[in-house]
Amino acid sequence: MLDIQSIREDFPILSHKVYNKPLIYFDNGATTQKPRAVVEKIENGYYNVNANIHRGVHFLSQEATEAHEEARKTVQRFLNARSAQEIIFTRGTTESINLVASSFTDACMSAGDEVIVSVMEHHSNIVPWQIQAARKGICLKVIPMNERGELQIDAYRQLFSERTRLVAVAHVSNVLGTINPVKELVEIAHEQGVPVLIDGAQSVPHMKVDVQELDPEFYVFSGHKVYGPTGIGVLYGKEEWLDRLPPYQGGGEMIATVSFEKTTFNELPFKFEAGTPDYIGSTALAEALRYVDRLGMEQIAAYETELLRYATEGLRTIAGARIFGEAAQKGAVLSFLIGDIHHYDMGMLLDRLGIAVRTGHHCAQPLMQALGIEGTVRASFSFYNTKEEIDTFIAAVDRVRKMFSL
Ligand code: PLP
Repeated sequence: MLDIQSIREDFPILSHKVYNKPLIYFDNGATTQKPRAVVEKIENGYYNVNANIHRGVHFLSQEATEAHEEARKTVQRFLNARSAQEIIFTRGTTESINLVASSFTDACMSAGDEVIVSVMEHHSNIVPWQIQAARKGICLKVIPMNERGELQIDAYRQLFSERTRLVAVAHVSNVLGTINPVKELVEIAHEQGVPVLIDGAQSVPHMKVDVQELDPEFYVFSGHKVYGPTGIGVLYGKEEWLDRLPPYQGGGEMIATVSFEKTTFNELPFKFEAGTPDYIGSTALAEALRYVDRLGMEQIAAYETELLRYATEGLRTIAGARIFGEAAQKGAVLSFLIGDIHHYDMGMLLDRLGIAVRTGHHCAQPLMQALGIEGTVRASFSFYNTKEEIDTFIAAVDRVRKMFSL
């Protein structure tokens, strides 16, 4: 069992007031709050361990290098990757996907080749492929979903052709909360000899992810959504695939030798880490991963599932409530509309009551088009949220409903 009250004390921002009301932070899908240990790690990094890494012979540089490479090992253990070389630090999910889209397309795709994505992808897993489509003439194929917001596996099977080169899908939808059956999706792709990229932005913070068990070729996530700092994220890639791909950016760190005639590239993981890496961010991310590991990913998942069940039950009691995403396997994301109240009005009024939710298309406009709506209100939960907060939230949603005389 998690001790929520003592956990909340680790997150100073949770005791803030907004508009003189206690802050209720239900925007965890966008970014999570940071525990003291993570903030202190950043502070300590800059105060005590700051020197550019990898190239320095001096004490501080070596200490900073060790901390950065130790952080890589922490990520490796967290994802259960085979080796630390399979962990590339990036700026986040978006940059990780852009890296794969660019390098994979260059190495493995030509005009007419196909990438399979799903209807519920974040723009970060659509637009990088469209950019490559414009550059190289590749095509996107889209896995549809049923009315509960679950991917249609039979339709997915039908999408494969001899031109399919990659599948790129979200583990958990940031709008619907659907937990996609990625192990099955990977198995089906592998039967066709097709590699898979999984967007883990919304899964890594909420459930145990084991890349050897799920077996995708690439798995990506953002530090800031898993209680770490902004500006750092991860690309996991199987070594044989990362070896096959060309560098994404050129510069320092990623080279072995440079002359005006010929440059040779560094080995993994440095081949993909051009320029000075965020060596303070990496150590703070590792601290965040140690924090959630201490709580236990199973306990986190169980508690958040209970919060979701409780909130869903509460919302269903409100007249005119429509919930988007009712998959059997669902993460702690609750997207909804009440009658014809605009999502933006609902978000603004909840804000005045101290409740932070997200409104709009959630960077998933194609999904909104499939649902036939412009946007939703989204409450997304974390282990530091409580049932009391959900009670306040449900009462507030109902109060807004009454204001609109619904
Ligand atoms: N993919 C999913 C499913 C997301 O929810 C998000 C962020 O909301 C992203 C990708 C993009 O993450 P970032 O902005 O941290 O790169």
